[in-house]
Amino acid sequence: MNILVINCGSSSLKFQLIDAQTEQMIAKGLCERIGIEGSQIVYQPAGGTKEETVTPMPDHTKAIELVLEALTNEKTGVVKSLEEIGAVGHRIVHGGEKFAASTIITDEVIEAIKACNDLAPLHNPANLIGIDACRKLMPKTPMVGVFDTAFHQTMPKEAYLYGLPYEYYEKYQVRRYGFHGTSHSYVSKRAADLLGKKYEDMKIIVCHLGNGASISAVENGKCVDTSMGLTPLEGLIMGTRSGDIDPSIVEYIAQKENKSIEEVMTVLNKKSGVLGLSDNLSSDFRDLEKSYNAGEDRGLRTIRAFSYRVMKYVGAYAAVMNGVDAICFTAGVGENNPLVRDLVCEHLGYLGITLDKEKNDTRGEELEISTPDSKVKVMVIPTNEELAIARETFALVQ
Ligand code: ADP
Repeated sequence: MNILVINCGSSSLKFQLIDAQTEQMIAKGLCERIGIEGSQIVYQPAGGTKEETVTPMPDHTKAIELVLEALTNEKTGVVKSLEEIGAVGHRIVHGGEKFAASTIITDEVIEAIKACNDLAPLHNPANLIGIDACRKLMPKTPMVGVFDTAFHQTMPKEAYLYGLPYEYYEKYQVRRYGFHGTSHSYVSKRAADLLGKKYEDMKIIVCHLGNGASISAVENGKCVDTSMGLTPLEGLIMGTRSGDIDPSIVEYIAQKENKSIEEVMTVLNKKSGVLGLSDNLSSDFRDLEKSYNAGEDRGLRTIRAFSYRVMKYVGAYAAVMNGVDAICFTAGVGENNPLVRDLVCEHLGYLGITLDKEKNDTRGEELEISTPDSKVKVMVIPTNEELAIARETFALVQ
């Protein structure tokens, strides 16, 4: 069965068509600038050439129409008709406490997702628009919602509650939710597979280090803690997000810079992280690494602070699980940046970690990078959120 995976943002839409049996990607692409002038669709069949077409996309329905047209197109398409698409898997950012697992999308499910909109005002409405557009164009095809938050719903109360008046949790569901769940789940399972161990018997720490970055502690196959919180702003220093800060900074900066709370929040979300810390040098680690290697303070302080925070969380999660068997690095930086991995592991010798420097000097490969006698295994595992969504979707519809 072919599964269409849709990841719908407010002005963009990523898609992949995946054969659920062979787990091969058949085609993939991206619609950009939906509802904005200059919109374009990028489409690439597996092993084929990439096509970029600038064409008007006033809304998401038009974007999905173009995606379906590209997939079924006589010349470059990969399926003869829409009937060859057995199901659609939608990535949904926030499922609140309502969704601890993926689910078949029904009218009731859509209402329940809408009820989580306040928790992810930028993401959930966009995800819902994608679902709505697909249901219009493929009314008979089953749709599945796969939530970024679901994998983390197994966290115990002591991990997800904040030290705030309890009524805020009861009235407004203010608590830690965590994100990137599909990636944390995929990578931790893969680690157990690669090590030939039972997932249910392992203590695994997953470091998902991309533009957005988060860490999770996975004990006996269940997430027991994660670094992102009510929103994806908490935890690690990210591309442009601050991660953990003293909450008083918000008021302090608002007063000093004569800004509203909303304006300070925009700074924390869009102008902070490694971008802000490097004095706007870049949010991209490739640029930061060059600066680090040139011995510039901007690159040095930024990469050191980023890696330090990761190391601190790894130590905390080893404490949470009373030990750790494997530490996995994934996503853009985790997969491709040996320097960061090295700096993180430098302070973890006490856990029984020894990095094989030569093996660590690789980019983008699935690989064990610790020495054979390292007590804790360190691994690079490229994430594949689309495949994870396709698997979840297939499991529910087959
Ligand atoms: P997102 O959260 O947007 O999916 P990614 O997982 O793509 O982010 O991570 C983006 C980061 O990964 C950037 O800082 C970039 O420098 C880094 N990155 C991606 N590919 C490479 C590569 N081939 N070499 C070095 N760094 C890379």
